[in-house]
Amino acid sequence: MTDRVDLTLGIDLGGTKMAFAHVDARGEIVSHLTMPRPATAAEMEAVPVEVARSLLNPSIRAIGIGAAGLVEAAEGVLIWGPNVEGREIRFRQIFEAELGLPTVVDNDTNVSGLAEARVGAARGYRHVCMITLGTGIGGAWVIDGHPYRGRGFAGEVGHITVDVGGPRCTCGQRGCWETFASGRRIDQMARDLAATRPGGLVAKLARGGPPEGQHLTGAAMEGDPDAIEALEEVALWLGIGIAGLVAAMDPEIVVVGGGVSQVGDLFLDATRESFRKSLEGSDHRDPTPIVCAALKEDAGVIGAGLHARESLL
Ligand SMILES: [Zn+2]
Repeated sequence: MTDRVDLTLGIDLGGTKMAFAHVDARGEIVSHLTMPRPATAAEMEAVPVEVARSLLNPSIRAIGIGAAGLVEAAEGVLIWGPNVEGREIRFRQIFEAELGLPTVVDNDTNVSGLAEARVGAARGYRHVCMITLGTGIGGAWVIDGHPYRGRGFAGEVGHITVDVGGPRCTCGQRGCWETFASGRRIDQMARDLAATRPGGLVAKLARGGPPEGQHLTGAAMEGDPDAIEALEEVALWLGIGIAGLVAAMDPEIVVVGGGVSQVGDLFLDATRESFRKSLEGSDHRDPTPIVCAALKEDAGVIGAGLHARESLL
């Protein structure tokens, strides 16, 4: 049990829920708590710190927070998030004043990438690119073994333009990468397929409710050709985008997380094929592995906990 004496508290403040976990030095979760995301800005400032207070014990040495949005990591401020309430929430200041423990704050995809690099699918690699297919596309880099944030906001890869004049994105621009390959896009494809094929498997799996991405991926996994074709289109765009990222940064491995990655090789094989066709000189360089994330929905709390631990070093 000695390795569990020193713990950190990892907190994942996501777009729909928040999760808290005691994390040990190996990145193992010792205990875990999940609850809905606060609905107002005032609650976003007050609730996470009070839940954290209730979870403190003498073994905990530091707190790490991964938040869904733009984070100013040096000061520990959540500047803005498209799916979280509140603006410029000074989490680091709030937590350190209230709880008296060193607290670090980072973007949620960044900490997930750190978790995959340290104890997940990219363990042992020094140059890692993490792509998360959530509602949009999140990105995170580990370069030379360290999380890379640029001036602060590196990793917002979903908003790289891939089609000038393409579909309007939630960010206000047109043709962003995530308008072609994301959970939101797959949800749209599910609705379209159910509308054009009301007797098809996607519509059946939705059971009269609104068709969502999970119904499309479910149909694809059951072999439905329309659903497979739709996912292959998403994989095509995903591979094109990854090729751009690899051309720029040449990571040793690319980790793909998020719900659709659970479709596994059916989806990733098509992504790898598109990537290979899109990457400059791919016949003349070692293939870059594109693998599924290992830590699934726990990556955020584990990464937040590990980030807190590393900040003490
Ligand atoms: Zn955009």
